[in-house]
Amino acid sequence: MTTHREPLDSVLDAVGETPLVRVHAAPDEVPVYAKLESFNPGASVKDRIGAYMLERMLEEGTLPPGGTVVEPTAGNTGIGFAVAAGQLGVDAVFVVPERFSVEKQQLMRALGAEVINTPSDDGMGGAIDRAHELAEELDDAVVPQQFSNPLNAEAHYETTAPEVYDALDGEVGALVAGCGTGGTLMGMADYGLERDPETHVVAVQPEGSTYGDLFGEETEGDEYKTEGIGTHDVSTNRLFDPEAVDDLKTVPDRETHAEMGRIAAEEGQLVASSSAANSLAACEVAREIRDGAVDAPYDAVVTVFPDSSERYLSKGVYRSFEEWEG
Ligand code: PMP
Repeated sequence: MTTHREPLDSVLDAVGETPLVRVHAAPDEVPVYAKLESFNPGASVKDRIGAYMLERMLEEGTLPPGGTVVEPTAGNTGIGFAVAAGQLGVDAVFVVPERFSVEKQQLMRALGAEVINTPSDDGMGGAIDRAHELAEELDDAVVPQQFSNPLNAEAHYETTAPEVYDALDGEVGALVAGCGTGGTLMGMADYGLERDPETHVVAVQPEGSTYGDLFGEETEGDEYKTEGIGTHDVSTNRLFDPEAVDDLKTVPDRETHAEMGRIAAEEGQLVASSSAANSLAACEVAREIRDGAVDAPYDAVVTVFPDSSERYLSKGVYRSFEEWEG
């Protein structure tokens, strides 16, 4: 599935080296490219942090050999950690708010992990608190803390970003990514800003998310259906550095839903809601660069398609907007 060409010894060696594919809705003059992260073995961008963080934590001794990782997660992180934990001889326990996709929870269990649900109303904050309680109760248990552990962003600084810059011969004008933890965008931005401090960095969130609070806006939080990005409490998003971000784009669920359908029908991309939000935001950034509203050192705009729509079919992602459960 990945672009690796040599035979590989372990599924962990198949993490990364995902394809970078053009988004054709963008203007011709300013191309948009998306990194197709569903090509990872656990089928999402989060395989990168699963493999990278657990390997580093075992090396550094913060996770003892044969220990347990306990992580609050919307699902993809659990799958990424579960793939890596199984191969690295580590036990895995995940705390998932109920409203997240059942497919993801089944996959985590299939990979040998234990899944514990917390009430949807308690949000990610409730899952984070429960994960810390569990870690206290267990011996040799560690919470990798994807929301605050710099190794999350470092995984993208070390893998995702160099892959993109190699593919485009370093000519990247803008980096655009939806932020859950913000690890993907922060790691890529750290790398991009080192390569060229003028790189235009854009965060993406669904309408109803409150990342705007970090930019001096007073945002009213609300529910949204787009899965995997956004926040309702910026105090949990400790990796997100507003200083590194030039613009925050907010995409309504209804537009994201339409884009999920369009990108499948017109571009053959079976990608989920956070990818669709990224696609819309990245195309908008491309138009801003084309029209001279934004300066960027190069024309190409890069975004990420974090996972596949197949993971959300039970939620009706391709039915009407009203039938999409989110
Ligand atoms: N999209 C999906 C589907 C995800 O699961 C996540 C991770 N929560 C993201 C986007 C955002 O990634 P990050 O946590 O690196 O900001």
